[in-house]
Amino acid sequence: MKASAGGYARAVDVPHALELMAGSAGAGRYLAGGQSLVAALNMRLSEGDMLIDISRIADLSGIREDGDHLRIGALTRHADIGRDALIRTHAPLLSDAVRHIAHAAIRNRGTIGGALAHADPAAEFPACALALGATLHAQGGTGTRDIAAEEFFEDVFTTTLAEGEILTGLSVPKAEAGEVQVIEEVARRSGDYALTGLCLVRRAAGHRLSIFSAGPVPMLARGAMAALDAGDLDAAVEALRAEIDPPSDTQASGSYRRHLAGVLLRRAVKRIEGDRA
Ligand SMILES: Cc1cc2nc3c(=O)[nH]c(=O)nc-3n(C[C@H](O)[C@H](O)[C@H](O)COP(=O)(O)OP(=O)(O)OC[C@H]3O[C@@H](n4cnc5c(N)ncnc54)[C@H](O)[C@@H]3O)c2cc1C
Repeated sequence: MKASAGGYARAVDVPHALELMAGSAGAGRYLAGGQSLVAALNMRLSEGDMLIDISRIADLSGIREDGDHLRIGALTRHADIGRDALIRTHAPLLSDAVRHIAHAAIRNRGTIGGALAHADPAAEFPACALALGATLHAQGGTGTRDIAAEEFFEDVFTTTLAEGEILTGLSVPKAEAGEVQVIEEVARRSGDYALTGLCLVRRAAGHRLSIFSAGPVPMLARGAMAALDAGDLDAAVEALRAEIDPPSDTQASGSYRRHLAGVLLRRAVKRIEGDRA
């Protein structure tokens, strides 16, 4: 099946994109890498859309240092994140995550902003943003605003971006000396979305653990984080399994996903302990 007839306009900058969106009578959809949106349009999940192509807005691409943070433009492609030296040094969780995302062709087009705005509960970057304590930057008709990653993911494919708002980028704190960041997941085949996955960050102030593909949104597993801070891995596994309520679907049962979460936590801790040695 192919997408229904609709409109297309290429935005030259963010104000232009906002203007096109405001004039689209509710039919506007921002087009970034198109790797999720075009598939959805081809399946006719919506019809008569007006595509507002933001993919060539140069200001929204790239990675730079901003004091003790890295600022990542929303249009930065997955593949560029995977090979960027600043990311590898200061936010290695994101480099590590890229190898789990789809296939090379999709990673060459898909953007981090698109992945965050799309808010697939099985996607890696939303969970990374949570574990890192990222701040997301948005721009709309009334100005710019910052949104904590913890406030961004509202429901399946739903975020707290307002109607027409553009995600312009995100800031992640640079890893401190001795910080360790890992992602672990299980997928049926390489490149598939995860059956379940998690991101674990160990900082001097404590652990941050986010879990994805275990509920409608990625979430911080606070009970497990507290148990990890107390040095009790068995209690952390138990707490993690208790605080998630994973769905059953054609890929896996909820109870299998809950079991996997504990297995993945043990693997992640083994990896970060290995890094300490
Ligand atoms: C076969 C296949 C396998 C995949 N496997 C995985 C996987 O394992 N893990 C994973 O994480 N992803 C996976 N993806 C999705 C891929 O990572 C997408 O690239 C990503 O989810 C969306 O990014 P995009 O730039 O392509 O966004 P688009 O498809 O262009 O847009 C997606 C949605 O976000 C909105 N949007 C995009 N950018 C912005 C912005 N800056 N501001 C506001 N709204 C915006 C669009 O309007 C649209 O609603 C897969 C995709 C395919 C086709």
